[in-house]
Amino acid sequence: MLLVTKAGSPNVLLGGATWPPGTRRFAAAGSAYAWGDLSLTRPRGPKTRLHPDSYIVDRALPLPERALLKHIRQRLGKRSRAVISGVGDDCAVLGVPPGHNALVTTDFSLEGIHFRREWHPPESVGHRCLARGLSDIAAMGGDPVAAFLSLAVPARLPQSWVDQFMQGLLKLAARAGVVLAGGDTAESPAGVLADIVVLGWAPRGKAILRSGAHPGDRIYVTGELGGSSATLNLLFKAKKRLAPKDYPPHFFPMPRLEVGRVLSRDRLASSMIDISDGLSTDLMHICKESGVGAEVNKEAIPVARNGSPGRRVGFPFALHGGEDYELLFTAPAHKCIPARIGGIPITEIGGITRGKKIFIRSADGSLAELSSRGWEHFRN
Ligand SMILES: [Mg+2]
Repeated sequence: MLLVTKAGSPNVLLGGATWPPGTRRFAAAGSAYAWGDLSLTRPRGPKTRLHPDSYIVDRALPLPERALLKHIRQRLGKRSRAVISGVGDDCAVLGVPPGHNALVTTDFSLEGIHFRREWHPPESVGHRCLARGLSDIAAMGGDPVAAFLSLAVPARLPQSWVDQFMQGLLKLAARAGVVLAGGDTAESPAGVLADIVVLGWAPRGKAILRSGAHPGDRIYVTGELGGSSATLNLLFKAKKRLAPKDYPPHFFPMPRLEVGRVLSRDRLASSMIDISDGLSTDLMHICKESGVGAEVNKEAIPVARNGSPGRRVGFPFALHGGEDYELLFTAPAHKCIPARIGGIPITEIGGITRGKKIFIRSADGSLAELSSRGWEHFRN
C-alpha cells in the first residue's frame, strides 16, 4: 500500500503511525495519477486520520513501457549539436566533430549492490547512476556528450520512484551538458537494474590514459577522499536513513569534468583514472598499466569530512574506500599543477618510482608496502 499526498500537505497519521520523513517526495505520484494509472481510494478504519489531500493507492505500477518512454522524452533537455536524432528512433544519430576521438563507457547501478532503496532516495540513485559514467569521461580528460539509459524496474515499483530517479539523473545531465539520447525499459523480476552508457569525445590523441605514468612523475588527487565509503559504513552500522544533504560525497558526488578538461587541454597529466574503487586499488591500476611503482606520503592524503557538523573520516576510508569519484593523476615533475582547478583543490600525494610495488611513507619516515583492498560495495 502506498500513500500519496499533495506537495505541501502536512504529515499524516496512518493507523496511529507517523508517516516517515519524505512524504513530500511522493507528491510526484500525483502526476502519475493524471495518466489514470493509479486507483485511488479514501482510507477506512477508525484509527486512520488522514489529511483531506491524501489517498491510499492500491495500485501504483510503473507506467507501461511506451508511456514511460513518452514520459521520459517529455522531460529531456534540449538537444545538443552532437545528437542529430535521439530518443524515438531505432538508433540515436550522433555526430563526432572532426579531429576528435569518441569515448564510450558503461556502468551498472544494481539495487542491493550499488544502492539500497531504503537508504538511498531515488534522486540520489539517478544522480549516482549518471555520475559513474560522467566520472569515467572526466578521467580521460574528455567532454561528455550523450547518455543512454537501460532501466529495468519491478512491476510493483511506484511510478513516483521512477519519476524521481529520472529527476536526479536529468538534473545532473543538464549540469554536465549531456543529453539523454536513448535507452530501453523492461520489467525486472528482482530489484531495480540501471545501466548507463555515456558517450564523450576528446581531441584526437589527447585522451589521458592509465598507461602514461613515468618514474619521476608526481602523483595528485582532486578533492578529499573517503567521504563516500565512510557514509556507507554509517548506513550499515546505523541501519537507518541519513540526511543526504549532510553527506553529499556519497549521495550526490560531482564528477570532476572541469579538472579533467583542463588537465587534457593544458597537457598537464601523464596518466589519469577516477577513484571509483579506492585510492590504493586505482593507483595500482595506473602502476600496472604504466609498468611502474609508486610511493605515497600518508600525511599528504586529503581525508574527507562528513556529516553535520563535519568530522574527519577514518584514514582507511581515504586509503581504500571507493566511490569518491575524485581524479587520481600523474604529471611530470616540471609541470606546474595549479592548487585548484575550477574551485576543486588538487593535492600532491607522492611520486612514481621505477619498481613495480606501491609503498606508503608514514610521518616518522617508515615505509610499508601498500596492498590494494578492492572496493566491495555492499558485501560487508
Ligand atoms: Mg573509471
